[in-house]
Amino acid sequence: MKKSVLIIGAGPAGLVAAANLLNKGCEVTIIERSVFPRIVVGESLLPYSMEHFKEVGFLEPLMAAGFAEKPGVRFIKKGVKFDFWFNEQFTKGWTYTWQVPRADFDMIMAEEVKKKGGVIHFGANISSLQTSPYPSVTFEKDGTTHTVKGDFLIDSSGFGCVVPNMLGHKVEKGQFPNWAVFTHVKDEFKNDFPEPNRISFDILETDLWFWMIPFSNGTTSLGFAGNKVHFEDAEDGGKAYFKKKLEKSAWFHERFKNTEILFEPVWHRGYSQSSETMYGENWVLCGNCAEFLDPVFSSGVALATASSMKASNMVIEAFEGKEVDWSEYSTYMRQGIDVFRTYVDHWYDGKLQDIFFSGHFNPTFKEQVCSVLAGYVWDMDNPFVRRPEQGLLSLHRVVTMMIEQEKN
Ligand SMILES: Cc1cc2nc3c(=O)[nH]c(=O)nc-3n(C[C@H](O)[C@H](O)[C@H](O)COP(=O)(O)OP(=O)(O)OC[C@H]3O[C@@H](n4cnc5c(N)ncnc54)[C@H](O)[C@@H]3O)c2cc1C
Repeated sequence: MKKSVLIIGAGPAGLVAAANLLNKGCEVTIIERSVFPRIVVGESLLPYSMEHFKEVGFLEPLMAAGFAEKPGVRFIKKGVKFDFWFNEQFTKGWTYTWQVPRADFDMIMAEEVKKKGGVIHFGANISSLQTSPYPSVTFEKDGTTHTVKGDFLIDSSGFGCVVPNMLGHKVEKGQFPNWAVFTHVKDEFKNDFPEPNRISFDILETDLWFWMIPFSNGTTSLGFAGNKVHFEDAEDGGKAYFKKKLEKSAWFHERFKNTEILFEPVWHRGYSQSSETMYGENWVLCGNCAEFLDPVFSSGVALATASSMKASNMVIEAFEGKEVDWSEYSTYMRQGIDVFRTYVDHWYDGKLQDIFFSGHFNPTFKEQVCSVLAGYVWDMDNPFVRRPEQGLLSLHRVVTMMIEQEKN
């Protein structure tokens, strides 16, 4: 008899895991709270995820959608631009990825999962679940109660953290004191500006930055993220507030001052979270549900797809009767997450920004750092992956010294 897996949440983590399991002969049922298409944040991808999309068979349909290509990333500080290009990186990996409106992107992957035979219950409100002696989930949908059973449960409910919350496992919140607010605009004047499709981050303060993610459908995502102290003036936090905030970025204001805001800005107040344990008897957490750090390096989806590939492959091994040590999953995820955590830490203490804007960033080291920003955080040949803390601190010492020498 076929083995079956229950998955909570149809974001990138849940859908990639679903496709991998279906490809390998399992039955999959996804329970998703919202009704697609739905607005969700996480629109700038990293090249590493392309490996996972290819492996599970999503690449072709995603390519056919014609999403805007993201060949690199641009940081701007006080009008100075600093670019990373993914074709100038240490790890031999993907040299581009996409900028995607997630409503469309997740919808395409969900359709593919259905084509492979997966069942998705949209608009489902989970009321209870058990994980032992076997997983089962009870949910309400259209006024009816349903119970589904499986041999294994993957929780990829993002900020929902369904399994940790229902089983009483601790989810630590607020490791970074950051908030964000975003919306989409009709980018009708974009062709009046150079490089209209270039994704950019305008850094206003060491701990406050704005993002611009242009899409191929004529709209663009705009958002602000940073220390919550910068958002205390929020009042109603609606469209008027958003427009006012935009004035702080000379770079973005010029392009967007007369554009139409397409929906009420969506707030994320305190998004960093970490689950105390990533697995238990017959269950595992994937994607944000396991851990989410910060959006500054667009690492969320890449960590989500990496986690769901690793977890779903381990589920298959367990089904095949192999001895599976789930602590290996936590160790694997910690490796990737902790590399990014070092970069996020040194972003907000300003050291990484000093390096980027020093004018003395050695090209060899820049390629190695670029691979981290492309999501290749398991490439142990990269010194900036193997020893991220030492790497960044020595780099910072060198550029600081060079700047001092220049002054004298
Ligand atoms: C401000 C901000 C900006 C970000 N920008 C980026 C970026 O540019 N690039 C990037 O890669 N990442 C970004 N992220 C992170 C990104 O959003 C996530 O890391 C990514 O979406 C993770 O995918 P996931 O599948 O784990 O979760 P999600 O994409 O959040 O999917 C989880 C799914 O579970 C469903 N769900 C939730 N609760 C329940 C429930 N009780 N029952 C059933 N279903 C449920 C949700 O409806 C959702 O569809 C950003 C995050 C924030 C907060």
